[in-house]
Formats: sequence, structure tokens, C-alpha cells
Amino acid sequence: MDIRNYVFQLELTDESDLIRGKANIEMRFLQDLQSINLDLYARQDNGKGMLVTAVSDQQGNALAFSQSGHTLSIVFPQAQPAKSIQTLHIEYEGIPEDGLIISTNKHGSRTFFGDNWPNRAHHWLPGIDHPSDKATVAFQVTAPQHYQVIGTGVLLEESNLPNDRKYYHWKTDRPLPLKVAVIGAAPFSVAYTGSVDHIPVSSWVFPEVRDIGFRQYFPARDILAFFHENLAPYPFEKLANVQSKTRYGGMENAGNIFYYEASAATDNDIEGLLAHEIAHQWFGNTASEKNWYHVWLSEGFATYFTHYYFEQTYGDARYREGLAEDRKRIIQYAKRNLKPIVNTEINDFNQVLNTNSYQKGSWVLHMLREKIGTAAFIQGVQTYYERFKFGNALTADLQAVMEEVSGQNLEPFFQQWVFQAGHPQLKISYQNNPSGFAEIVVEQVQEGNFEVTIEIAVHDATTKSTATVSIPLKDKKNVYPVMGISNISSLEPDPNTKLLFEVIEP
Ligand SMILES: [Zn+2]
Repeated sequence: MDIRNYVFQLELTDESDLIRGKANIEMRFLQDLQSINLDLYARQDNGKGMLVTAVSDQQGNALAFSQSGHTLSIVFPQAQPAKSIQTLHIEYEGIPEDGLIISTNKHGSRTFFGDNWPNRAHHWLPGIDHPSDKATVAFQVTAPQHYQVIGTGVLLEESNLPNDRKYYHWKTDRPLPLKVAVIGAAPFSVAYTGSVDHIPVSSWVFPEVRDIGFRQYFPARDILAFFHENLAPYPFEKLANVQSKTRYGGMENAGNIFYYEASAATDNDIEGLLAHEIAHQWFGNTASEKNWYHVWLSEGFATYFTHYYFEQTYGDARYREGLAEDRKRIIQYAKRNLKPIVNTEINDFNQVLNTNSYQKGSWVLHMLREKIGTAAFIQGVQTYYERFKFGNALTADLQAVMEEVSGQNLEPFFQQWVFQAGHPQLKISYQNNPSGFAEIVVEQVQEGNFEVTIEIAVHDATTKSTATVSIPLKDKKNVYPVMGISNISSLEPDPNTKLLFEVIEP
């Protein structure tokens, strides 16, 4: 089945960490089905987890259900026909073991923050906890008066209720994977920092760090404007930047990004973090990977477009500095973990958050841009986004778009960089030849072969000048005569940071 819409009603209290929930889940059956499974973590012996108390269909008929481990199974009295639409009503309660983080911030205030990545939403929300199933979402939250509740989408209602409680209704009509649909509840100071094309941008920080927090999140507006104007229109109704208790540095929740607590409490430079999470609003939240193995389509893009933002804002040197830093990390990572970017051996999906998905994925995009040119690359990124927005993609889908816009066969490129482990490890040397041309010798010493071109700056001892040559590497050992130079004094491989490779000293 395909879930189309979720409405989650949640009640938060200060008496305990128990939450009470009602979920209305609208689904369309893709085949005749008599029973379905939803993701929801059942109550365990330690008292944590969600206990379902009632399930009914849209006519109000009670349905049989059972819970086991991570699954809620629901049985219909008769098979639901293919293509029919049904809205299930589920009542449940429990103390979240994970997913909704209920804790205390540095100032002693109790807070609630959804932290769903990668598949932790089903610790507090029944549904399909996988990025390939996207649905519109509403959160209707009741909480004690002293909380402000932020949620995915537009604020439709904020009301005082009897008994010092408040009600918030947030709703989005953009289909999302559950990994980025959340609420946060805390005492907040909230500032509106401007808008981009009528999209409001705001900062939500704990009141104790109001001044510094607002200052820290202030650059978000301009970063949003940059991507909105240079890549594609922003896909969501608002951008809120929220101080939170996420376990990650930043969590790119759709339209309300949650950042680590200290991000708003110290003057750490977080411009790169803001840019990374804002870039995710397009890549990851809107054009999403079809499964976790291809998460570089989220993380590699967010990492790369942070560099791209720095390049366009601060210049080429800043861009190449960032890439050079990342290259060091990739080389170090490969020494511990020589695996391809798409690594289907991973079982624990938190492990796909690694240097391959982020920095190496970013380098793949950088090298793709070098290979097909900036104009084709940006056109390809925009076409890919347009084609897969509010949907899902695999690496092959990106490759197909990039081949279309460039007219090049990119199969070897994607194969060697995304599906093959490692990078070229090169022994580079030269031989002078007083009676003819000097030669540069490049040996690939890694396992497997790469087809790449490396630029080398050649310093000529005779003329004291420098020439840059491009040497295509096809074989394990490549000998390249340098026309016009007989006396090389030194070589500088890859002077413009174009290739992911490692120098191996001869
Ligand atoms: Zn990220």
C-alpha cells in the first residue's frame, strides 16, 4: 500500500514521559489486501514503547490488530480491493524509547524533540518508516502552556485550552518521508528574520541564549535565498532554524531544521552547518534516496552544495580548500574502511552516515562537474531535482540525467567512483633526458584500475617556468613524454584540486 496522509494527534505532559497519540492514516491499496503491517515499536518489558489500544476503519468499525517488536499488524474483515482508499484510526500511548527525545536542556527546561533519522520515527509515530513512502503530514499537539510547539508545515492553529494547556496544529501538503517529519516542544524565543520570495525564515532558540542564538542562525536567510535563486525554488512553506537536542550536528527536518544545542549557545562558526542542512531541503527531503544504500544522494549533495555556496559567496580558493580538507578525510577513511559509496553490506543504517556518503559523495559531484563542465552539471542537478522532487531516486537515475545533459557515457565514471571502493593511489616520478623530452611516470598502485586524468604542474629547470599537463591514466603504469621540456626540476600533482587521489611516495 501507499500511505498518502498522516494526521498525528499527540498529547504531551509534564507528569510523565508517557505520550498519548491518535493517528489517522490514509492509504491506498496497490493490491488486494486483507491485512497490513505498519511500523510501530511495541511496548517492551522495560515499559518503553507504544501500546496500541484501538484500531478502527473509516466507517468506525473496530479492527483486529496485534503488536510484535517493530510491527503493528492490522487485519480487515475482508480484503481491501486494489486501488481503494482507506483511512485507519489508531489510538496508542507509551513512553518513547527513541525517536521523540524527551529530556532536559542545559538550562534545566524539559524539552521534546523528534529525531527520526534514519528509521526512528516508528518509536513514536505509526506509519511506514522508510524514505520511499512519502505522505503529507499534520501534527495536532496538546502540551502544557509553557511550551511552544514547532512542527512540520504551516501553523494552522494556536489556541489556549482549559487547565493551562495549549493546542498547536501544524500541517504540510508536501509529501515527505517520516524521517524528516517532526515536532519540537520547549520554551523558545522566536524571531522572524525575514523572508525569501514570501517564505518566512525564523529562528527558535532557548530564551537563555536569545541574543547569541539569533545571531548564530541569522545567516540562514541569505543561504536560503542563494539556493532558491541558484538551484530551484524552495520546496516548503517556511524555514525555521531550531535549537534542539538532536543527536546529530544538524537534522534537516523538512522546513524546520533542528540543530545541536550548543550551535546557538556559543559563537562557533556554523555557516557551513546551516548551508548543509538548508541544501538538504532539496536533496534528501524532496528528491530522496530510494533506499539507505544510496544516501549519498542526500549527504553527498548537502556536503557538495555547501562547498558550492562557499565558492559562489567567498570565491574559488575557499571552495578548493574545503575539497582538499575533505580529500584528506576520504584518504584516511579508506585506510580503515575500504568500501564503495553504495555499500550493500551495511545492516545498521546509522553506519551509512560515513565519510563515503558525505565527503566522497561530494567529491564525486565535484569531479562530475570537472568532467562535463559547470553549465551541464548545474543543468543536470536541476533536471535531476525537477524529475525526482517529492519522489525517490537511485544513483542510476542521477547517472541517466547527467548522461542526457552532457551527451557523455558516464557508466565508467559512476562505476569506478560510486560502486568501486577506493581511489587512485599514485606513484609519480620523472626522468630527465638531456637529448630529448623528459618523461613523467605515473603508476597506479591501488587494487583495481581507475580511468582518470590527472593534471600535473611541471617546473622546468632550464627556463624556470611552469607548464601544466593533463595526463590520462588508463593503465597501471603510464609513461608520458613532456613535449618541449628536457630538464624537470619538480612536479606538483593536481595543482587545482580536481582529482580524488593519494600520492604514494616512491
Ligand atoms: Zn546531512
